[in-house]
Amino acid sequence: MPSFVIASKCDGCKALDKTACQYICPNDLMTLNSQLMKAYNRDPSMCWECYSCVKICPTQAIEVRGYADFVPLGASVTPMRSSEDILWTVQFRNKEIKPKRFKFPTRRGVAEGKAQPFDHFPTGDADLKSPTLMSEPAGLNNEVGPVKFDKIPTL
Ligand code: SF4
Ligand code: SF4
Repeated sequence: MPSFVIASKCDGCKALDKTACQYICPNDLMTLNSQLMKAYNRDPSMCWECYSCVKICPTQAIEVRGYADFVPLGASVTPMRSSEDILWTVQFRNKEIKPKRFKFPTRRGVAEGKAQPFDHFPTGDADLKSPTLMSEPAGLNNEVGPVKFDKIPTL
């Protein structure tokens, strides 16, 4: 379900030229009401719930309700980042149930902001024309990538 801003927590990123959520949204959805100094998602139907705005918001003002495939419907899922870990808090709609928290290490050994998005995978023009996927064949752990069989092999 799309992201939404809890207005009482949003300070409009007053100290920044551009709000953090505007900067990070890959779909250019987050918008600032400059009179109220509150951000909002201007087209929830276009939100792909990537959680980028949720992760970057310095005041934890943005939430996304997780789908029922990983939390009960209506639960909010909030990440809190540190340089070492990311802590996810699941708050159920029934506030009498204690929130659940899960902590995972971030990419250790890579300085913050220095992660290479494409790592060692090729990204040249010829690779874009290749019928294989970006991480193939290396990602398949074999030398040749997907193998086309003319008939179903017998095992
Ligand atoms: Fe408000 Fe958070 Fe967006 Fe900043 S990043 S404008 S605090 S919702
Ligand atoms: Fe944009 Fe992702 Fe936030 Fe949706 S969840 S508003 S796509 S940054």
